[in-house]
Amino acid sequence: MNIPVIIIGGGPAGAATALQLLHYGYECIILEASSSPKRKPGETIPPQALSLFKKSGIEEMLRHPEHLACYGNRFVWGNATPADKSFFQNPVAQGWHLNRATFEAQLANRVIAAGGHYLHGCTLLTTKFLNREWTVTYTTADKQVRSVTAAFIVDATGRKSRVARKLGIQRKVVDQLAGVTAFVTLPYNIQQFTYLEAVESGWWYAAPLTEFQLVLSLMTDTDLIPKSLRTASDLLSNANATTLIAPIIENSIASEPGLVVTSAATGYLQQRTGDRWLAVGDAAYAYDPISSYGITSALEGGYYAGHAIVACLRGNQDALPAYDWAISNVFSTYMKMLIGQYAQEKRWAEAAFWSRRN
Ligand SMILES: Cc1cc2nc3c(=O)[nH]c(=O)nc-3n(C[C@H](O)[C@H](O)[C@H](O)COP(=O)(O)OP(=O)(O)OC[C@H]3O[C@@H](n4cnc5c(N)ncnc54)[C@H](O)[C@@H]3O)c2cc1C
Repeated sequence: MNIPVIIIGGGPAGAATALQLLHYGYECIILEASSSPKRKPGETIPPQALSLFKKSGIEEMLRHPEHLACYGNRFVWGNATPADKSFFQNPVAQGWHLNRATFEAQLANRVIAAGGHYLHGCTLLTTKFLNREWTVTYTTADKQVRSVTAAFIVDATGRKSRVARKLGIQRKVVDQLAGVTAFVTLPYNIQQFTYLEAVESGWWYAAPLTEFQLVLSLMTDTDLIPKSLRTASDLLSNANATTLIAPIIENSIASEPGLVVTSAATGYLQQRTGDRWLAVGDAAYAYDPISSYGITSALEGGYYAGHAIVACLRGNQDALPAYDWAISNVFSTYMKMLIGQYAQEKRWAEAAFWSRRN
């Protein structure tokens, strides 16, 4: 098969890139390793994301009943007193807690409806760039090896940056943040806020997923994850020592016994564009979840990546450097915000987690 653009990775960044390419009439194919849309960590998006959803033509996805409204942040951060930051002052008045599996399925269906090829269960094997053409081999869901050629390749593989790393480009990480996550069943529904609480070893995150379901994460550095933390029940017991989270998980039980441990480190690729390739979303720049910016960045990056690829294929040599400049500027602004956010917490200045950040 020969196609203008091949996208490796079908998360928000890959799908958003495809949608822009299809908008300009450029055929593309997405290879996505997972066999079906999966629940992923990360679900909260702020009110400001709405304008991006509108610009990308995917606003109606937010009206799906499985995405909950989020009315603000409730937090213990900087001192022991709980406080609220409501979204009511914002013109949009709400953010969202996305059902990630539903959202990933919505994006994949939209790509297919727009005429794109979205192939689940397909994992990248090799890439080769010869005579201004990429040849990519991959395994299919039924373990066959196939190949496709394309004029341009996109790395949308998330924090793994699989394509760029095959090209020998290194990823730099700024910290070792990880999320230790459990899914919890509540006996009652709770207010639709994002709950954040700073503790000596990091911070807690909790958000409702459905009326009686909650996602609960301890965010800490990989080397600071307590050895005793092995099951979802362990995580619930640890959370009982908090001020803000403990009351909302009272009488709750773990929905699944296991814990999911995922990297949430701030990091970036040392080179994000090159001859007929670019990286987008977490593959290019990955954000600390405290910013609630990962999904928005993936969608926004995809929007600009699509435009840049079209311009590049039409011969505009400035398109990829301009794209890189734009996403790098956003990351610089974020780094200042991140330092400011962690600097607000001074109660455990000597503790490893906080001293590494302040
Ligand atoms: C604990 C945690 C909490 C978070 N909380 C939030 C939050 O509240 N709000 C927020 O906005 N963001 C949050 N994030 C970040 C957010 O989830 C990511 O930024 C977002 O998913 C990035 O989208 P992406 O498309 O770049 O990458 P991904 O969503 O990671 O998609 C990459 C895709 O590439 C596929 N892939 C990988 N390798 C291959 C291969 N070799 N071949 C084919 N396919 C491949 C994967 O299967 C995957 O589907 C959180 C992240 C973590 C870890």
